[in-house]
Amino acid sequence: MDILTASWVVPVAGEALRDGRVAVGDGRIAWVGRAGDPGEPKAPVRDLGSAILLPGLVNAHCHLELSHLAGRLPFGGGFVAWVEALVAARGSDDEASVRARAAQAIRDLEDRGTVAVGDVSNSLVHLDLLGASRLSAVVFFELLAWDPARAAATLEWADRRLAGLDGTVAPNVRVRLAAHGPHTVSPPLFAGLVARGGPAAMHLAESPDESHFLATGSGAWPGFLERRGLGHVAFALPGLSPVRYVDSLGALPRGLVAAHAVQADAADRERLARRGVHVALCPRSNRNLGVGTAPAPELLAAGVGLCLGTDSLASVESLDVLEDAKLLHRQFPDLDPAVIVRMATLGGAEALGFADLGAIARGRRAALAWAPAPAAVDDPCRYLLSGDARLRRVEA
Ligand SMILES: [Zn+2]
Repeated sequence: MDILTASWVVPVAGEALRDGRVAVGDGRIAWVGRAGDPGEPKAPVRDLGSAILLPGLVNAHCHLELSHLAGRLPFGGGFVAWVEALVAARGSDDEASVRARAAQAIRDLEDRGTVAVGDVSNSLVHLDLLGASRLSAVVFFELLAWDPARAAATLEWADRRLAGLDGTVAPNVRVRLAAHGPHTVSPPLFAGLVARGGPAAMHLAESPDESHFLATGSGAWPGFLERRGLGHVAFALPGLSPVRYVDSLGALPRGLVAAHAVQADAADRERLARRGVHVALCPRSNRNLGVGTAPAPELLAAGVGLCLGTDSLASVESLDVLEDAKLLHRQFPDLDPAVIVRMATLGGAEALGFADLGAIARGRRAALAWAPAPAAVDDPCRYLLSGDARLRRVEA
């Protein structure tokens, strides 16, 4: 047993504690309080000094397998141009370099105090790297096929891949079926995912192009499908928002982790809350791709569970979810900093189903992060979002 102390402990599950103490034994939190509080165990004290101790961060939406594309795609040309560049660049590197860059991204996440990820993957080429890491991971095995004629073969392929993983995946990694999004997954493919209890994750209501396409068949997306050789695919225009369209397919299961929700109106927000969907906001990716700003305060007011994700190094500068928390704070200065810190920790743990992460509370895992902080700090959550805080993992 050890007792960690710092000038601030932010448990997330409760009020911040000045000069708080956290007792840790066997990798779990045994006690939280202040010196001399009832129940404090007798153990050596390890003082982090003038610093903030908090739960490790949870990046609820990233794509580790796209890390090899860091800095290689133009952001400025709009969403569809970016998707087009992504599709063109994806196949340009061999598997060894894709894995090497994913391995580096995992090390960076660990170093900067992230303890869990929701990682979207089409290839599953890096499961062993996650398995060997100290991260807890839900890997969302993402299917996409716009042509309904390809739905059955795509599902069969996915079923075979999943069956082939049996017994090979490390205990810190879970693999779950996911959909790419409403404008890339055909209705029969959605139906197959629903029949398999999914999808567990999805990009949803990200760009105006996606919304315009589903509502009226307009915008830049039909041209993209045409250029991809998919212009012949018949699609009965739903005339609905992305959220309502996917719900009409029965594909908003409770616990779904929906990334983005930028284009979500009041009715959509109410629906997401009613369905028990978690929304992973990706503020930096949305800014970089010019798709707009998710209505975070309105999503919260509707009762939607919010968490944060970075999206991939193909659209952001780092996989450090604290940077997204900082941008969200700048975008919504009236939002309580403690609420944003909760999104980056407990909100993500709830979305990914890690009941023992995301908070400093008795019985939870001691997967903690800390940042040095000036002695004068009187609002630790505000300081964490200030731009000066640099997190690292608490080493056992
Ligand atoms: Zn994404």
